[in-house]
Amino acid sequence: MNNLIISNLSKTYANGVQALHDISLDIPTGMFGLLGPNGAGKSTLMRTIATLQEADQGTVTLGDLNVLTQKNDVRKILGYLPQEFGLYPKISAEVLLDHLAVLKGITNKKERKEVVKALLYKTNLYADRKRNLGGFSGGMKQRFGIAQALLTNPKLLIVDEPTAGLDPVERNRFYNLLSALGENTVVILSTHIVDDVKELCTNMAIINKGQVLLKGDPLKVIEEIEDKVYQKTILKNELESYKQEYNVIAEKLFLGKPIIHILCDNNPANGFTPIKADLQDVYFSQIYGEQHGTK
Ligand code: ADP
Repeated sequence: MNNLIISNLSKTYANGVQALHDISLDIPTGMFGLLGPNGAGKSTLMRTIATLQEADQGTVTLGDLNVLTQKNDVRKILGYLPQEFGLYPKISAEVLLDHLAVLKGITNKKERKEVVKALLYKTNLYADRKRNLGGFSGGMKQRFGIAQALLTNPKLLIVDEPTAGLDPVERNRFYNLLSALGENTVVILSTHIVDDVKELCTNMAIINKGQVLLKGDPLKVIEEIEDKVYQKTILKNELESYKQEYNVIAEKLFLGKPIIHILCDNNPANGFTPIKADLQDVYFSQIYGEQHGTK
């Protein structure tokens, strides 16, 4: 199976924003999580790989395929679920999927019927297939988006921020759908939600300001900081002074009281207790570390 290999990709928009800065990633088949805050450059990277916009520099390959120049060939093996997509509200899921299948070149009526039916089952929309799309919930729309992205049986599937705006039940359902996708496909899941990556991905990268801050297996990157995260419940007015003294990577409220997580090579004592680090800690240590200039 071929890896998607991104080498030294850069992009500056006409307004001077450098959205991608020398990005290099080697993405194997399976679920790959691209994690970063809003504005990190995720969508720019996704759209570039999906042949929808040009890079200034760098290369992207999938096996023998030059993704940036052989656009028509890429489109035949690509499934893309953009961050926002419009659906015709007044036609049913089944009719629109059938229509999109025609556009994708599945011209044999019998074959098309089978493909559409299989995808409606797969995305758990079969019972709702006759309903108009205008009445679909956010989660149902996203599942429909996946159904259309799978029409061509893609080797490369790009899913941009799919769980934003979904409630926990819908999100879980969407996770189940994504995790059931073939292991033979390169699936890139772009998200700012750490749990998306934690639940689904075997490989990941954290990007911010157009740069790769960290890449690897989520479990391994957690291991790297495993013995270095400590927590303490503090008073609200102490937060600033703790931030001055320690590398505070997370602050949250528990029963109305602030709890902070810090990253520290040695036990800081002073009332801090060691905790089991998770991906959230890795993420914030990277993002905050960058802001604080400690990286
Ligand atoms: P993300 O998907 O991680 O939120 P984006 O790729 O959308 O990040 O944006 C990265 C940066 O590029 C942001 O600063 C954004 O404002 C800027 N940007 C995105 N699209 C355009 C565009 N078409 N023209 C100018 N700037 C853009």
